[in-house]
Amino acid sequence: MWGSRRNRGAKRITCIACGEDVRRSEAREYDKHGDRWERRNKAFEHLCKTCYRDLCHQPRDELEALLVEIQTELGSCSQETFLAHYEKLVEDRYGPLEERER
Ligand SMILES: [Zn+2]
Repeated sequence: MWGSRRNRGAKRITCIACGEDVRRSEAREYDKHGDRWERRNKAFEHLCKTCYRDLCHQPRDELEALLVEIQTELGSCSQETFLAHYEKLVEDRYGPLEERER
C-alpha cells in the first residue's frame, strides 16, 4: 500500500525539465503523448512540481485533445514530426510560447 509507515526506497525521479531529483511522490507524471491511460510499454517522464506548474501557463486543459488531434491527423509519425507539428499548432492557436528551449 501507498503511504505505509516506511516509505521504502522513497523512489526518486529526475525532473525532465530542470534535472532536479525529487521524490517520486512529489513529482507529476508527464506523458508526452498525452495518453495517461495506456500505460503498457511506456516509461513516463516526470516533472517536479515547480516545473509542472510552469507548464500550466500553457493550455493544459486542451493539451490532450490537441495531441489526439495531431495523432489523428498524422497517424504514426516520428516523435520529431509530432513535436514539430504540436509546436506549430500551439503557436498558431495560442501564440508563441514564452520560454522556448530552442
Ligand atoms: Zn523540475
